[in-house]
Amino acid sequence: MRYDKRESGMGMSDNYDAVVIGAGPAGSSVAAILAEHGHRVLVLEREKFPRYHVGESLIPFTYYPLLRLGMIPKLADSAFQKKYSVVFISPKGEASQPFYFFSRYDRGTVAQTWQVLRSEFDQMLIENARERGAEVLEETCVKELLREGERVVGARAQTLSGETVEFRAPITLDCTGKEAFGSVRNGWRMRDPFLNKVAVWTYYRGSKRESGIDEGQTTVALIPEKGWFWHIPLHDDRVSVGVVAEGKYLSRDGVREPERIFRREIEQNAWIKDHLSVGEPEGPYYIVNEYTHHARHCGCEGLLLVGDAFAFLDPVFSSGLMLALKSGVTAGEEVHRAIVEGDFSASRFAGYAAGMRRGIENMRKLVYAFYSPDFSFKRVIDAHPDAAAEITDCLSGDVDKDFSGLWAKIREFVPLPEDLPVGAPCGGTPVFDSGSMAAL
Ligand SMILES: Cc1cc2nc3c(=O)[nH]c(=O)nc-3n(C[C@H](O)[C@H](O)[C@H](O)COP(=O)(O)OP(=O)(O)OC[C@H]3O[C@@H](n4cnc5c(N)ncnc54)[C@H](O)[C@@H]3O)c2cc1C
Repeated sequence: MRYDKRESGMGMSDNYDAVVIGAGPAGSSVAAILAEHGHRVLVLEREKFPRYHVGESLIPFTYYPLLRLGMIPKLADSAFQKKYSVVFISPKGEASQPFYFFSRYDRGTVAQTWQVLRSEFDQMLIENARERGAEVLEETCVKELLREGERVVGARAQTLSGETVEFRAPITLDCTGKEAFGSVRNGWRMRDPFLNKVAVWTYYRGSKRESGIDEGQTTVALIPEKGWFWHIPLHDDRVSVGVVAEGKYLSRDGVREPERIFRREIEQNAWIKDHLSVGEPEGPYYIVNEYTHHARHCGCEGLLLVGDAFAFLDPVFSSGLMLALKSGVTAGEEVHRAIVEGDFSASRFAGYAAGMRRGIENMRKLVYAFYSPDFSFKRVIDAHPDAAAEITDCLSGDVDKDFSGLWAKIREFVPLPEDLPVGAPCGGTPVFDSGSMAAL
């Protein structure tokens, strides 16, 4: 259906071309692209920036959305810790060979990425959107989607002073992160059938880190029962360090306080214990559970889900920011075309959704393999040396490729899940079967 401003009865003066809910990486990137195309974009953000957020490690193929956003020179000039590699550590503290991205990718572009302090990174991204003309209202919390019949026509929000304000636009982008505002309100949010871990984390200052080119490497340090620590060195001598595992493992013997859980698990990996043996923990201990989720639909007429609001994957391979930025840029271009054509029907976003789901499903299969008992990438590579390049590409975020050959090789060792039948626009021409999983 073509969208006609007069038909909706909106006043022209307060009309926007797009309303974006949430100023995280997904919201900032979609807003930057739309503003760059000359559209009137309003971003509504609940918090006052800079604000804290977990999720600091970028992967190599984040390079392309960052390039499209004009962020590469800004990151190159920043204080963020440069990241060239990833290393895995056994529970006994034995390190694998570090994987250096430049052994496969171009040194001057994809092969060097960053460990970012999110308060600073997210601020840079939203400033980038502002520079391109996006209007941003902070401390403005969206409470409701505005609807006319089946169509979403904007959002109702509350300002810090308690005032209720309505913002109207022919398209609303839900970029609310793992809270997934639109998905929850529409009853579309679904748990992943298997990936439901718990994470506990904090920050250290002055702890041990590697030197030279390895200083910024991400370390994934294994603990029993397929649990793992992340160790992400940031600038200013800070380290983000957290543990992820099944809830029943982490809370064994009735231990429930995040700090006690964290301190007990430090003892389970010799490398982590050694690296945290100096320096001091800083700030609170955070805990989050049941964090992998998917939206049954990518949106409906006038509404599109972007970033974690569309799907959120277990962070073991640090794919969240890459997927959020990529979906923001892709959605920005799609919505630009929708605005030009005056067509905001759900079905036109089927291609966006199918593309994003393809990447999410590829990453999800590797996450499943990682958590399978007795699985190791080394066993697959020993049997199939050509799998090394495919695994590297997927882990580095080159997720749009056809990895069916790789899945066949991995399935010789462990079962992998089928693609979830989710993501098709609601009310549009289905591109996938509708899912049968229970909504959260
Ligand atoms: C424990 C953990 C570790 C992680 N580690 C990594 C990592 O190392 N690397 C990586 O790439 N990713 C990691 N992630 C994932 C990463 O944090 C997310 O994928 C990323 O932040 C998604 O960006 P987003 O813009 O979709 O959402 P967010 O960054 O969450 O932004 C959403 C924004 O929406 C705002 N908002 C929410 N509701 C409303 C509302 N009603 N009204 C107005 N504003 C609203 C919020 O305040 C927020 O600013 C991790 C996640 C977790 C939980």
